[in-house]
Amino acid sequence: VIVVGDELLEGRVADLNLSAVAHALGNRGLAVSGARIVADRRGDIAAAVDALLAPGSLVVTTGGLGPTDDDMTLQAVAGALGTGIVRNAEAARMVESWYAGRGLPCPPGSLVQADLPEGARPVPNPAGVAPGVVIEARGGIVICLPGVPREVEALIGPCLDSIGAEVHAGLPYSLLRTWGIPEQRLYDTIVEESLADVRWLAFLPRPMSVDIKIGGSDRAQVAARLAARLGSSVYSIDSWKPIEACTGEALLGRGLTISCAESCTGGLLGARITSVPGSSGWFSGGVVAYSDELKKNLLGVPAGLLESRGAVSSETACAMAEGVRRLTSSCMSVAVTGIAGPGGGTDEKPVGTVWIAVAGPGPVEARHWRFGNARAAVREAAVTCALGAVLGAVG
Ligand code: ATP
Ligand code: MG
Repeated sequence: VIVVGDELLEGRVADLNLSAVAHALGNRGLAVSGARIVADRRGDIAAAVDALLAPGSLVVTTGGLGPTDDDMTLQAVAGALGTGIVRNAEAARMVESWYAGRGLPCPPGSLVQADLPEGARPVPNPAGVAPGVVIEARGGIVICLPGVPREVEALIGPCLDSIGAEVHAGLPYSLLRTWGIPEQRLYDTIVEESLADVRWLAFLPRPMSVDIKIGGSDRAQVAARLAARLGSSVYSIDSWKPIEACTGEALLGRGLTISCAESCTGGLLGARITSVPGSSGWFSGGVVAYSDELKKNLLGVPAGLLESRGAVSSETACAMAEGVRRLTSSCMSVAVTGIAGPGGGTDEKPVGTVWIAVAGPGPVEARHWRFGNARAAVREAAVTCALGAVLGAVG
């Protein structure tokens, strides 16, 4: 994979395209053997293509398919392959139809996006103007994609389809997605199991969420054994579906709705929930109650309780959950209150202390967590554990 863009090398933009391309390739059983990030320089792009394209190989480039002078990927590829550039009639129709579909005249300058290396095949872009480009050369294949990540995601599948790379049912590895157990403890828990026969095992940690990839011919049995050992800490098996989607499916399956009351996560939990398409079917809404005033006035947390136990306490978390459940008439609710830091910690309640309460269908219950001291990680961990707690309560 060759990712093209000055902005990536300058550190202004974090690369999203390699992961999108690698993911699509992985779904087709194709492994990425390496990736390079190169500047918007014709010579650099050409050198990378020249170095990587070999018989039987597939090279995917992203970036630099636009109509401006800094977009030169196709000229570079043509240079590396020793072919010329010609206006491709089919690509020109794709560019024109993109504008026609929006009731706009096609600006003449836009048609340079139909100037392709000789013998190249255009693939319609569902998300933008520039077509994807497929070139067979030197016994290998080059696929050129635009730079905008949304367009890469939309185009990589159709381009791979067009070269006959079929989607495999299932992943080429077993996958357990876990929540609520830190990586080290998870590892210690798991190595107690006999894993000598596992060819490879990879741990992909996020705050309070670790994905375990298992390879080898007996991976399914190993995964089943670990899943049994880890119980409700596993939220997804053999699927990359995020925890918010798994929690939503569980709620929907039981016909339950949920609401949330957030303090230290400041709306992140509601944002993650509503990132799931169709979440209106199970999410009634949320309250960001950052101040004590709002916890009292909106959620009905008793003033005496805030004074005696503090805003970060089991009792406040439970009262927040019950308050938002009353407010929204949802079947269940979840509340998060904690100290994200860097300030605000005490000996008794250090930074990273978080209480998460779930109300309904059973009685309200809160759990105490300690999430380290990095603000962003504390907040992400709190969201994950809130979603996991709901999943656990739904069963
Ligand atoms: P355009 O027609 O918009 O110029 P393009 O195919 O020429 O598209 P680029 O010019 O390389 O693509 O990039 C367009 C936009 O996409 C830029 O804002 C750039 O920051 C972003 N982008 C490009 N490559 C990546 C990447 N690998 N990861 C994330 N964003 C990227
Ligand atoms: Mg561009």
